[in-house]
Amino acid sequence: MEERTRAALAALVAQTRVFLLDMDGTVYIGDHPIGAMRETLAAVRASGRRVVYCTNNSSKTAEQYVQKLSRLGLYDGRDLVYTSGMATAEYLRETYPDARVYLVGTDALKADFAAAGVRVADEDADVCVLAYDTTLSFEKLCRINEYIVRGKPYIATHPDAVCPAPGVYPPDVGSFIALLKVSSGREPDVICGKPYTVMGERLCARLNVPAGQIAMAGDRPHTDIRFGNNNGFSTLLVLSGETDAEKAKTLPASDRPTLVIDSLNDLAEVL
Ligand SMILES: [Mg+2]
Repeated sequence: MEERTRAALAALVAQTRVFLLDMDGTVYIGDHPIGAMRETLAAVRASGRRVVYCTNNSSKTAEQYVQKLSRLGLYDGRDLVYTSGMATAEYLRETYPDARVYLVGTDALKADFAAAGVRVADEDADVCVLAYDTTLSFEKLCRINEYIVRGKPYIATHPDAVCPAPGVYPPDVGSFIALLKVSSGREPDVICGKPYTVMGERLCARLNVPAGQIAMAGDRPHTDIRFGNNNGFSTLLVLSGETDAEKAKTLPASDRPTLVIDSLNDLAEVL
């Protein structure tokens, strides 16, 4: 690491109480931790800082991520996994506390919503929510389209067009949003996940930490870094995932990070 980068990274770490971490491309790739990530994260925790994993994927529950991270040796009981689905459930509880909610989502997410106190209902819903439903059916599409056309509040968990996976990336919520835009003429009133502000606001409230003491690290400029910038967090773009050094030099202002580092393991040098 260049001396200038090391000094800037040390200054960023000094003001940070919580590290929000993207997962794929940032702490692991597929099923493999990146370099000495276990030791790096252990050092972050030992310094008294919190590790919070942050994902837009609302088809899985936090518990499913805890299992994967534990298997890779990247999870500790002090950590938190926070999904766009959790942020959406908290947003609904606060904004529409008594509403009946039609949710296009997996059974696991429905159970999570119910456990969070959201009244999930198929009939006579007041609000409709579009999540990453890997069990999506024509019937569900028709039903949410009806609610949207009738003018009900329309919330989406996150905007990603495709979901990273081996081979061809499958369509994600952003693609469902585009379909429903064509059929209904409407786009979501609110999108909760990265890069927007609902998830950031819910995280600050839940962690009771001001935005200036949070650092977001990720490999995708237009989701991870823009999310941090939109929420007033400092931002670390890591080059261990889908962004290379060349691309990092030509980012629009909205997606420009506080610092570019080779990998999150650079943190170990300044902790
Ligand atoms: Mg990533």
